[in-house]
Amino acid sequence: MIQSQSYQYRYGSEPLHGIAKSLNLPIQFEYVQEICIFEQLIKLVQISEKLDNYSKYFTNSFNQLEQLKPFYQTISSSFNQGVDKKNEICEHCNHIQNFIIHNQFKYLEHDKLLSVSDMLLVELLEIVSNMYPNILYNNYQILYQYIARVLSNNVLQNYYFNVDFMMKDFSPNIKNVQNILKGIISTNLSTFHDFAQCQGILYRYKEDGKQFPDNCPVSLFPLYINYDIINDLKKKTILQQKVVAKMGMDFEWYTSILGRLAKHDEFIRRMISIQGKVEKSQTKCPYTICIVRNDFLHHASLNQWMQVEYNCIAISFGFISDRVQKYHSLLFDSYYKQIRENYKLQVKQDLNHDIMVDALHKAYELYNNKNAIVLIITAEFEGNVYDQRYIEKGLAKLGILSKRTTFLKLIGNITSENGILRAFGQEIALVYFRTGYTFDQYENEECWNIREMIELSKALKCPSLNTQLVNFKKLQQILLDETQIQKFLNKDEAKLISENYCKIWGFDHEDQHEKLIEMIKQNPHDYVLKPQREGGGNNYYDDQIIPELQKLTPEQRTEFIVMERIKPIPRIGFMMRRGQLDIQAVISEISVIGYFINDGEKILVNEVGGYLVRTKRYLDNEGGVAAGYAVVDSFMVSDS
Ligand code: ADP
Ligand code: MG
Repeated sequence: MIQSQSYQYRYGSEPLHGIAKSLNLPIQFEYVQEICIFEQLIKLVQISEKLDNYSKYFTNSFNQLEQLKPFYQTISSSFNQGVDKKNEICEHCNHIQNFIIHNQFKYLEHDKLLSVSDMLLVELLEIVSNMYPNILYNNYQILYQYIARVLSNNVLQNYYFNVDFMMKDFSPNIKNVQNILKGIISTNLSTFHDFAQCQGILYRYKEDGKQFPDNCPVSLFPLYINYDIINDLKKKTILQQKVVAKMGMDFEWYTSILGRLAKHDEFIRRMISIQGKVEKSQTKCPYTICIVRNDFLHHASLNQWMQVEYNCIAISFGFISDRVQKYHSLLFDSYYKQIRENYKLQVKQDLNHDIMVDALHKAYELYNNKNAIVLIITAEFEGNVYDQRYIEKGLAKLGILSKRTTFLKLIGNITSENGILRAFGQEIALVYFRTGYTFDQYENEECWNIREMIELSKALKCPSLNTQLVNFKKLQQILLDETQIQKFLNKDEAKLISENYCKIWGFDHEDQHEKLIEMIKQNPHDYVLKPQREGGGNNYYDDQIIPELQKLTPEQRTEFIVMERIKPIPRIGFMMRRGQLDIQAVISEISVIGYFINDGEKILVNEVGGYLVRTKRYLDNEGGVAAGYAVVDSFMVSDS
């Protein structure tokens, strides 16, 4: 198709040359000539009512090219006749050659391309996607990757954010906001950096053997979301917590699923072995307390927030998230006043991140001994120390003391007699784990013994091992089975919660492996391969998936799940890491935080109330604030 339409490049590129010359733009002409997207742009013009000015802008250049006149006339007349634009988009998307875009990618990778057509395409895509997000997304996803690359390219960004750059007449409103924002943020960056620190948005860094605080990676402008969506995700999270609580009470059921994985996985094996002893123990604590975080990403083609995973241990950034919410509120009331007035948006104030303190407080009370303390077990080095300290501070405000420690420091300093747990001589009411979710976090046999001692004691644990066991991703797959989820929820509840579940496949039956591998081979970008691990950085994406699967024996594959890839539409994000501004195409993951307490038979408390928004670069697969990809964000909602 490309070859037969070669003339389009020639004629297409000429107007661009003209514009580029007259505006004195530093364009590499050979690229413009070679990869003219102009023809595509014109088609996009057809579908945008807002682009009247745009077509006029190019009229003169076109008129000089007699051959293109009929083409242009068709466009104008379809404009005037109000032809069904949705169909045109579909048709257009089906016909445009991905090939051209792929070529653009090549140049972008070399950071060289600086063509007018890049800018125009980005501009147009934004307009079109504001009008018909799903249609364009469903038919032409590659364009989103394209826009993300342009936005993530420092050189191109300078042009993108320059309103005077030929887009003046037809830039949609949102573009102006982005420009205003960029101006405000760039001018006030050092102030914003200091403000973030004043607000407590802090992280501990370690460099050259020295430890020091600086700002926790943070977004400088929140995600806009309809509050109904948040309410919906809250409802779903309450249900998810109910499922987790009930799964955790059914030792036989979950070991029947995890047992097979335990054959290869020492971590699971050890955990099941300790829990087996707990189940038989007479002195164990009857209560289970668990703080849960339920993560969602927006799947654009379904227009639905889909569950990424639920987490039952070491939920982090709850407090930093609360700080960020307040920080954004402050910026909105002051530096972003102009934008707030335009958009009638506000940062939602009714969020309650004290939910984590509430949870630990309630658990503490159940132990019923005011002289006992809370034991917080962390990693040896904790970057996210302030997030943890806020919890400690929240408990201190209630008169409850905590002791921070690590598994290694507990060696020789912890005892259990008749189920009474003591650490450093003090009775422990509640053990709160901010570590202990990967095998290497138990550095030696003594660390495992300590975990066992804690689990067998009368102290409450957040989370106790049974809940940690049902956190494995394999169970997420199992819950897709109607009969399984209906063990824990009634039919209506099961239906409701499943709306947000992605398709997940397991390698349970060897005779189905080939079929599954073939399915992934056809389109590796549509899947994520996940092992039974927590903490980020463990998944396989795109072209990594098949080689990884081929390395494994059929039995080893059973430890993995394959998950449908959730594909959000990018937006522009303003991220600040240690005072440095990073403007990128980004996507946001929303998490709802809640907790439950049960007494081994019934659920006593099941509440949600906190949120976390993590925003990461669109072009990166993994998230992770600590890893330097994601930043802590918040959301804003409309006034009306
Ligand atoms: P972990 O337990 O390591 O946090 P996750 O399942 O949360 O594992 O995956 C880590 C990150 O990878 C997520 O935060 C998300 O950004 C990305 N991710 C995971 N699953 C998907 C998916 N199905 N589609 C798109 N991105 C995903
Ligand atoms: Mg995760």
